[in-house]
Amino acid sequence: MEALILLKPDASYRLMVRHKVFSWLIRQQYGKLLSLKWFLPPEELIQQHYSFLSDRPFFPWLVKFMTTLPILVGKIQVSDSGLAGLRFDLGETQAHIARPNSIREMYGIYGGVNCVHLSDSPESAVSEVALWEKYVELSGGVDVDFSEPANAPDYTHRLRSLASLIKQNLHRDEASKVFTELLAAESQLNNQHVLCEIILESFEV
Ligand code: UDP
Ligand code: MG
Repeated sequence: MEALILLKPDASYRLMVRHKVFSWLIRQQYGKLLSLKWFLPPEELIQQHYSFLSDRPFFPWLVKFMTTLPILVGKIQVSDSGLAGLRFDLGETQAHIARPNSIREMYGIYGGVNCVHLSDSPESAVSEVALWEKYVELSGGVDVDFSEPANAPDYTHRLRSLASLIKQNLHRDEASKVFTELLAAESQLNNQHVLCEIILESFEV
């Protein structure tokens, strides 16, 4: 089957994290990465994609998170058991409690800011690919520069501990300021503040 892969904004724009996630996608033995490209998902697509979460308090934030900036979207050719393997590598949903050495533990920041979406079952893979292909061509190969960035830092674990302070309302202003500086140093984006704001907002809900 084909499964949907999305690099969420926290993976699409943090240069070293983007490189590391891509390296995992091409080195893993479970399936074959078919495509990846930049795409700005429209709100109605994300609302449908995450419709099972529409009554959760974080849903408005989640839709905003996934529709504010273009992100990397694509497909993986994979068997049922291969998809389970990839999901195991990815780790649990909430980044701050994901299994050590999983992708989300290593590169996700906190909670639902968890770097990667991957279809979570063969059934969702089929329905997600069908849904997304109504909006975007996903057959074009990998159309992104993933070469290792020179001197780009990866501050994931400092960002996570700052997020934890912010969530506990401890040193809030100072923690937010340092969080913004570190995220900016890791990332490549003209309107940097948009990425910072949308991530910081997730700690409010
Ligand atoms: N999410 C969140 N808070 C939660 C649960 C989910 O922000 O308590 C977000 C998170 O980004 C997650 C997405 O909603 O990846 C979809 O949730 P799902 O349960 O499908 O988790 P996944 O399959 O991504 O592990
Ligand atoms: Mg899911």
